Amino acid sequence: MLHLLLFQRACVGCGYCCVKSQCIPGQQRYGEQDVCPGLYWDGARYRCKLIEESSEAAAILQAGEACCRPLNRWRKDVWQRVRTPVDAAPR
Ligand code: SF4
Ligand code: SF4
Repeated sequence: MLHLLLFQRACVGCGYCCVKSQCIPGQQRYGEQDVCPGLYWDGARYRCKLIEESSEAAAILQAGEACCRPLNRWRKDVWQRVRTPVDAAPR
């Protein structure tokens, strides 16, 4: 438990967690995908469309709580590493 407190960090929108593993609510909503269709880049950070649309999903995913992968290196340098299905969609 102590280690969780020591490494607790806010979410900075690096996208690591979603790119590495699509969450269960995301799989249920969009089907299993290489890159989750809920993920999108807002010009400064990654965000989740599903969390914005569904308070139930936001609660399940503990949106607004601490980062679930606080030791990942992407956190230190946030940029658009991965094109998501939203980016690839025709405008
Ligand atoms: S790895 Fe952490 S900082 Fe990056 S998007 Fe996920 S929760 Fe946010
Ligand atoms: S539904 Fe949202 S939190 Fe889940 S993998 Fe997709 S973008 Fe990430």
